[in-house]
Amino acid sequence: MMVERQEIGLTTATTGDGQTGTHGTGPVGGIDVKNLSAWFGTLQALKDVNLSLRGRSVSAIIGPSGCGKSTLIRCLNRMHEEVREARVSGEVRFDGQDIYAPDADPVEVRRRIGMVFQRPNPFPTLSVLDNAVAGLKLTGGLSRPELRERGEQALRAAGLWDEVKDRLNQPGARLSGGQQQRLCIARALAVEPEVLLMDEPASALDPASTLRIEELIEELKERYTVVIVTHNMQQAARVAESTLFLLLGEVVEFGPTSKIFTRPDDKRTEDYVTGRFG
Ligand code: ADP
Ligand code: MG
Repeated sequence: MMVERQEIGLTTATTGDGQTGTHGTGPVGGIDVKNLSAWFGTLQALKDVNLSLRGRSVSAIIGPSGCGKSTLIRCLNRMHEEVREARVSGEVRFDGQDIYAPDADPVEVRRRIGMVFQRPNPFPTLSVLDNAVAGLKLTGGLSRPELRERGEQALRAAGLWDEVKDRLNQPGARLSGGQQQRLCIARALAVEPEVLLMDEPASALDPASTLRIEELIEELKERYTVVIVTHNMQQAARVAESTLFLLLGEVVEFGPTSKIFTRPDDKRTEDYVTGRFG
């Protein structure tokens, strides 16, 4: 069960006294990555990655299949280490604090830096409302009405409330694929993260649901730092202020999205964004 929780990015962290650091107008920390390398056994999936992601903005990670996109975002909230034989070196600082410091709690790191996966993975038998508050429930201490309230807030934030408010008690599996993905986003938001990592969140969805997710990302960036992995370059161009091009585990180029797509510095970036390989 623990493994399952970790796989869906849920944590057992307590959320304290209802503090809502992300919901005001205060600064949301950026993420600074220094000399980050990552391995699966002897396979090195990331090589000396350096980058700075600004708070309250959307960054996209693009690159051919197998280049290390998922590994990179999984290193940003310490999910990588959940894989057997996986290893990380280097630094990831969030709000100035090293998330790999010996006294850093990975569970709290994953609460503050939440994650949404490629395939919508709601708990199929849990109700819509119970799915939305599944992460919160693990923390305990909230009454039924409080959970209901927090669930509603999360469903509203995920742009799903109007569609589900009359069927909060139906199984999550009965929603459409796009709705299930927004339910997973609600579940991630319910624990009040500051960063949302999204690994190809729309790649299993139809065009209308994809558009809905992109609109939602636009809204979320007002309050959260969003990092989205996508193999869809138009999507990166539509949603992201900054784009990172990754190739064979190395950062080729990172900069303003318009620059990456129209006048990149590196020939390999140009070849990739113009569809010459990948
Ligand atoms: P991307 O998301 O860009 O497609 P990944 O980060 O998933 O790439 O993979 C990077 C490299 O790590 C690839 O060579 C892939 O085969 C390898 N890899 C990914 N996950 C695992 C794993 N669980 N065990 C071993 N190797 C893995
Ligand atoms: Mg991937």
